[in-house]
Amino acid sequence: MLESVYIHIPFCKEICSYCDFCKVYYHTKWVDEYLNILEKEIKENYHYEVIKTIYIGGGTPSSLSILQLERLFQIIQIFQTDPNLEFTIECNIENTTIEKLKLFQKYSVNRLSLGIESFQPKVLEVLNRKTNYHETKRLIDCAKKMRFQNINVDLIYAVSGQSFTDLKKDIDLILSLEVEHISTYSLIIEENTKLFIKNYQNIEEELDRKMYEYIQEKLQENGYQQYEISNFSKPGYASSHNMVYWNNLEYYGFGLGASGYVNGVRYTNTRSLKNYFRQNYLLEQEPMTKKQKMENEMILGLRKREGVNQDLFKQKYHQKIEDVFPIQDLLDKGKLEIMHNYIKIPKKYIYTSNDILIYFLLD
Ligand code: SF4
Repeated sequence: MLESVYIHIPFCKEICSYCDFCKVYYHTKWVDEYLNILEKEIKENYHYEVIKTIYIGGGTPSSLSILQLERLFQIIQIFQTDPNLEFTIECNIENTTIEKLKLFQKYSVNRLSLGIESFQPKVLEVLNRKTNYHETKRLIDCAKKMRFQNINVDLIYAVSGQSFTDLKKDIDLILSLEVEHISTYSLIIEENTKLFIKNYQNIEEELDRKMYEYIQEKLQENGYQQYEISNFSKPGYASSHNMVYWNNLEYYGFGLGASGYVNGVRYTNTRSLKNYFRQNYLLEQEPMTKKQKMENEMILGLRKREGVNQDLFKQKYHQKIEDVFPIQDLLDKGKLEIMHNYIKIPKKYIYTSNDILIYFLLD
């Protein structure tokens, strides 16, 4: 059953040096036209399912003006929603005002995802970000007073030139914000990013691992549960929207460059604003075979700390996991374990989970 919607708002006022997401510079006229086309795309493709999670990501959704955000939220009224809807919007600290928070509240947004990335000046300089601890704290305190009770912050680590001490300082500052959810990303320098062009290098693997293990330990000590490779939450605050991806469930993706999974077909929208404005939304689509669905079930599902439920797998695919995938060897080596009917990757192998996940590619 399809119960989730992702909406991509690709506009940014500044471009971060590490970014390879689908984004374009903010331009008022483009945003206005974009919202008109987004409305058409949704009306043409949405089939009136009751929606339980909506996620507005970007780009920088909070870069839109109040009027443009109001228009966006009006468009979102098209969706029929569950009373317990989880409704997330991504925001940058620099352009999220109290007025915008009030607007989010008016339209029932109940989860804020704040792109912080780091508080260390030398790290921010490499990333071309302008986060500031005091403004962040002030914004989060305001949001809490306004009863936003589910706030995520994003942290980037393993940045060229970043020391282990820099990371420790970031973690302490992030913990002092007392938010419900923390997402952490080890920086990977992708082609076509400013960092790649300037020949920045990834940090040593040993330091990257040390940083990852420190994050795991320190967040756990402070009451956060790791529920996915990169995600930590206070009990009861795991992101329902992101769980849809890791549970290999279907969802709509609307907007430039958005991906979706509808009626057994995975699709990706065009990254060309010109094509999108001509209503040529789609870039590519691929109906999933049973084999691909089973691969995804395992590769996505094993990202979760709880792992993959064996009964649910059998119910969905009418085969047992062990009859489809060569897992005995991994179990014997202790690289997989079974707990309460779930197959999972043990904690000590999470950092190298990619080496385990390749066993679930069937060709
Ligand atoms: S990282 Fe986010 S805010 Fe920065 S340029 Fe990319 S999409 Fe925009």
